[in-house]
Amino acid sequence: MLGETTEDDGSAEPNTTHIAAGELADTIRTTLGPNGLDKMVIGENGTVIVTNDGSSIIEWMDITHPVGRLVEQTAAAQDSAVGDGTTTAVVLVGALLEEAATLRSNGFHPTTIIDGYVTAAETALDQLEQYERSLHSRHDDRLTQIAKTAVTGRWDDASTDRFAELTLSALRAVEFDTSRLTLKSYPGGELRDSVCLDGVVVDLETSSTSLDALSHPSIQTQDEPAIAMVDAEIGIEEPNHVESVELQDATQRNAFQAHEQDRKTELVEQVVQSGAAVLFCQKSIDEAVRTALAQRGVLPVERTRRDEFDVITRVTGTTPVMSVDELTADNTGTVASVTQRTVGTTQTLTLQGCPEEQRATLLLRGGTPHVAEEVRRIVADCIDVTRVTLDDGAFLPGGGAVPTALAMDIAALSRGIPDRTQLVFDGVGTALEAIPRTLATNAGTDPLSTLTAIKQRHDGGSETVGVGPDGHPHDMIAAGVLEPSTVFRSALQRAVAVVTQILRVDDIVRTSADERTVDAEHDHAHAATGGYPWAVGH
Ligand code: ADP
Ligand code: MG
Repeated sequence: MLGETTEDDGSAEPNTTHIAAGELADTIRTTLGPNGLDKMVIGENGTVIVTNDGSSIIEWMDITHPVGRLVEQTAAAQDSAVGDGTTTAVVLVGALLEEAATLRSNGFHPTTIIDGYVTAAETALDQLEQYERSLHSRHDDRLTQIAKTAVTGRWDDASTDRFAELTLSALRAVEFDTSRLTLKSYPGGELRDSVCLDGVVVDLETSSTSLDALSHPSIQTQDEPAIAMVDAEIGIEEPNHVESVELQDATQRNAFQAHEQDRKTELVEQVVQSGAAVLFCQKSIDEAVRTALAQRGVLPVERTRRDEFDVITRVTGTTPVMSVDELTADNTGTVASVTQRTVGTTQTLTLQGCPEEQRATLLLRGGTPHVAEEVRRIVADCIDVTRVTLDDGAFLPGGGAVPTALAMDIAALSRGIPDRTQLVFDGVGTALEAIPRTLATNAGTDPLSTLTAIKQRHDGGSETVGVGPDGHPHDMIAAGVLEPSTVFRSALQRAVAVVTQILRVDDIVRTSADERTVDAEHDHAHAATGGYPWAVGH
């Protein structure tokens, strides 16, 4: 436990703060890159997920050590800000701490290490700009490569290609406005059955719409069917004030039933007169009305989800009415076509060619709910990474080419530093090399010789050479392994930030330990912080 680190006699032994973060980095390291291994994570309640997404793994790990939690928060922050690069950030944290441990055993004070790390990281971030490249436009094909790189290793190569392409075609269809794109994942079927549809897809399963009506031929063949939207229940209004109606005899009963029947006919007639071919109702529709509508060639869709109801209203240019009595041709809208299809076990309705708003829906498929969910996460990551790239417009060659180039820049610059800070700078360079080294290790090649070979290529002027998916040096631009500059930049920034925070904790631990040696009377000094001496600094 961390509290016990106060036993530290002030010598430079790495303490548990390093170990907690280091263990986390060790666990995560093997998942980095296209050859990263999957991890099976078993939750407390026995739920199992298999993934090699660093952020999901960390999220599922039951991290209790406070320093481990700091690293976890860093990964989570990276994930929510840029949607990628979490493993990279954690690997860098592990490597920077490892270097810090070596530096400390060489007599460096944590404060010196912190200052050196911060300066070296600033230098690296300045240097980073020279490796950045710019996108030509939103139609630049390299966006697809960037999306692909972000999800490489999450599924087989053919599928990741397909997901990246699907995502980009969907994003282009909505001019990169993600508020007009809907992701829907359905268990059942094959991954390759996933498609991008122009328009809005409505699930009918939850709406308990009479499926018989769906097979009505006129709706499917109709051009520009009119759409009606009713934002209330459709049926006989319940008497509000009377608790129950006593029907004395058969005549009365018949009269009542006839009245009900008339009312239902009136409702159906009103809908038919409006010319609507599809009627979306936000609440339920009386069963007899529903059947009658279907017979008259109107597709009744009841219990449309509120969000879908609002989207359909908007994109079709329909004016929703609060009662069928208000429904006329004037307040109907239209779409180019309405198609019914069965996706997995779900009946859906696709409204294509919406006049008021260009929309797209990605229908994602996976054999089981787990697979369907993972497919959804993969596509969401493709979307995030595209958004991040477009925001900044800059991308980098991947496969560790850039961290290698930065490590070489730092090594060159550190030679000009006259004092021992040089060694701290070198530590940051070595830590950056952890990225190409780990990629090589995970691909099964020797990390040292791979790194040496890559450095030689860089020296020869090919600064875009990194570790290819086969573990050997390749030009990453030619190989199409590209990533948004923001992802690496923020992974490095966050890694350095959390490492300096952890090193500060170390400093406090050491200082308290020193005080304790001087004044053994104050043995209870940390009792107030629950035995966590570092807590005083936060
Ligand atoms: P992170 O959580 O950091 O995104 P990943 O497991 O996605 O971790 O691995 C990202 C690393 O893998 C990056 O350095 C990236 O450049 C590299 N990478 C991705 N695809 C390839 C590829 N096809 N060949 C070589 N390196 C790749
Ligand atoms: Mg990634």
